[in-house]
Amino acid sequence: MAPTQGYFDHGALIGVLTTQPLDRVLDYRAPEGGCHLGAFVEVPLGPRKVLGVVWGPGRGDWDLAKVRSVIRVLDAPPMRDELMRFLEKAGAYTLTPMTAMLRLATRAPGLGDPPSMRKVYRLDDTTPERMTDARKKVLHVLRDMGGLSLTLKELAEAAGVTSSVVKGLVKLGAVREEDSPRDTAFPSLDPGYGGKALTDDQTAAADILRETVAAKRYATTLLKGVTGSGKTEVYLEAVAECLKQGRQALVLLPEIALTAEFITRVEARFGALPAEWHSGVTVTERRRVWKMAALGRAQLVVGARSALFLPFRDLGLIVVDEEHDTSYKQEDGVLYNARDMAVLRASICDAQVILASATPSLESWANADAGKYRKLELTSRFGEAIMPEMRAIDMRAEDLPGSSWISPTLQRAVQKRMEAGEQALLFINRRGYAPVTICRACGHQIGCDHCDARMVEHRFQKRLICHQCGESVPLPSACPSCAAEDKLAAVGPGVERLAEEAQALFPDARLAVLSSDMFGSARALKAEIETIASGGADLIIGTQLVAKGHNFPLLTLVGVIDADLGLQGSDLRAAERTFQLMRQVAGRAGRADKPGQALMQTYQPEHPVIRAILSGDEQDFWTAEAGERRAAGVPPYGRLAGIILSSTDAQDVFDLGNALARQDAPLRRVGAQVFGPAPAPIARVRGRHRVRLLVKAPKGTALQPALAEWVAPFKLKGDLRMAIDIDPQSFY
Ligand code: ADP
Ligand code: ZN
Repeated sequence: MAPTQGYFDHGALIGVLTTQPLDRVLDYRAPEGGCHLGAFVEVPLGPRKVLGVVWGPGRGDWDLAKVRSVIRVLDAPPMRDELMRFLEKAGAYTLTPMTAMLRLATRAPGLGDPPSMRKVYRLDDTTPERMTDARKKVLHVLRDMGGLSLTLKELAEAAGVTSSVVKGLVKLGAVREEDSPRDTAFPSLDPGYGGKALTDDQTAAADILRETVAAKRYATTLLKGVTGSGKTEVYLEAVAECLKQGRQALVLLPEIALTAEFITRVEARFGALPAEWHSGVTVTERRRVWKMAALGRAQLVVGARSALFLPFRDLGLIVVDEEHDTSYKQEDGVLYNARDMAVLRASICDAQVILASATPSLESWANADAGKYRKLELTSRFGEAIMPEMRAIDMRAEDLPGSSWISPTLQRAVQKRMEAGEQALLFINRRGYAPVTICRACGHQIGCDHCDARMVEHRFQKRLICHQCGESVPLPSACPSCAAEDKLAAVGPGVERLAEEAQALFPDARLAVLSSDMFGSARALKAEIETIASGGADLIIGTQLVAKGHNFPLLTLVGVIDADLGLQGSDLRAAERTFQLMRQVAGRAGRADKPGQALMQTYQPEHPVIRAILSGDEQDFWTAEAGERRAAGVPPYGRLAGIILSSTDAQDVFDLGNALARQDAPLRRVGAQVFGPAPAPIARVRGRHRVRLLVKAPKGTALQPALAEWVAPFKLKGDLRMAIDIDPQSFY
């Protein structure tokens, strides 16, 4: 019956998983020449040709006379069993259709195309009669390359000549032009190159990590250490060991802006650049990375969460840097948490996981506590650097004029740093100029037409922007409600407004404003970060973009404008997030030899979270936080799933929500409870009404099958949509 060898002869009935939204594996006939299990194929679907993967033997429950043949097997390495199992398990965990999972794993356009070619140049035998300096330079570079070839641009650049000189040499027969495949292997990384002498602490941690990687078995290690303690240096040693074992490594970073700095460190450590995978990578390069990962010719991939779905030939190590970062949770389309999926994939392919963070998530903290993860800790900063002193500024006692946010105490502290020639950072976690625009004539607040959200003024771009749907309009001069002229007023601070205030207070300071919406490209942002790092700014005004891993050696003071901001939400992780963010931001100060200070403006200095941040007593904070979550039966001590329903018709969403809440027998059977339906905190986005339900269950409940059974009978009529979010991170 079912061929178990993983090979299907011509005409055999096979099951093909396609990327089309039909939730089942479709039957086809193996093409002439047969095909392997996992092979990427092109199959007919109706009038179209679509991409698919040979997933197993056919089911045979389809009219056999109508079963069509695979059109062709694509020129790509077959998907390995490990990745197939990973997609299946990840799909089952996130309740995602397999077709959508396959789309995640094939995000490299043209992956089955014949290799695209490009022109390269190498030395030929003839020596030109007339030798010019320019020609000599070209030939010299090529001789130096010892038989290796270069593209026209690379060669002209290396020789410092125009491309016409090279072309001239081709005509004379001194240089040969050849076609060569564009998808070339990545340069090999040398694990013995550029290692640093580690401190005792670092050595101890690196030794353990090397050992675990060499064991080639699955395990997860939580690598915890204050910012600047050398976590990166340490996990690069684990990467080195992985390369020595001949296996591939993957490093996930939470933010593209961090990759530039990181790959520079990789080059210094291993003598060559790794492969990169994120939204800033070109389509051709994506295809190259995808193929080379499959062929084992990309030893190290550095990337965003979606790199987790690359077809590695032999993945031995996954590092999740800044593992607590919320951006690891994909909030669009397939809702998955890359940190958890990294652990899942590693457990399937016998790889190691390193979760690195200065402020681990409570989930990872609890897993380490329960003995599921090993925990390694780096307790001191490298070199002279020490942790910054943390202090609160009690805003109730500060004399602050309206429409200003920098207290006199903070102002004096910044002034002192400026005078000492040091850098200061003012942090506010709000993009734009002001969160609210109000009409002083009629009291109208300008909102988005499509969302239940206020429009945020972005003075830099001279527009009002909705942070929910991205809608933007030019700044109006008259109130859209009462038409009064010049009565619109900005209320509350955003990063741009703070910059304005800072510039007025410190007219001589060179200001740098870092907010994610102010840079057109990752390159521009990288340039700005480098400028700041080398002392090109005195005062940095930033949003949470600055909290993530950047190294500013001259920075000694961090001022947090509104430490209370994150505490207001009803989010179950509000305390955890605030604690992490404040510690991350504070950690920017005093990374080199000068001690740093962090000042936090707060109206509630007695709040337990603020007190925990100030005291720096992490263990106490986590123990208290864990106690509360345990008592409430919420993650990581209980299970949650969010159900988000949306439609342009408000009645439809509530009707469905109520029906779901009533017919909850499959959930009750496993001990799960439904809460809601309730309007989502942002009840309308892009013109769609949103309703949420929350499902809560004891830890250890097999929640997904129950959820699947629960929602199965409901047909989505009209434009109703339902998203199921397992382990939700956000509740908006
Ligand atoms: P983390 O990842 O914990 O924030 P890093 O690995 O980035 O820490 O280290 C902070 C800084 O200290 C970096 O500039 C790094 O190169 C340097 N550093 C850390 N350990 C060493 C070491 N053993 N030798 C030399 N420099 C080190
Ligand atoms: Zn909107």
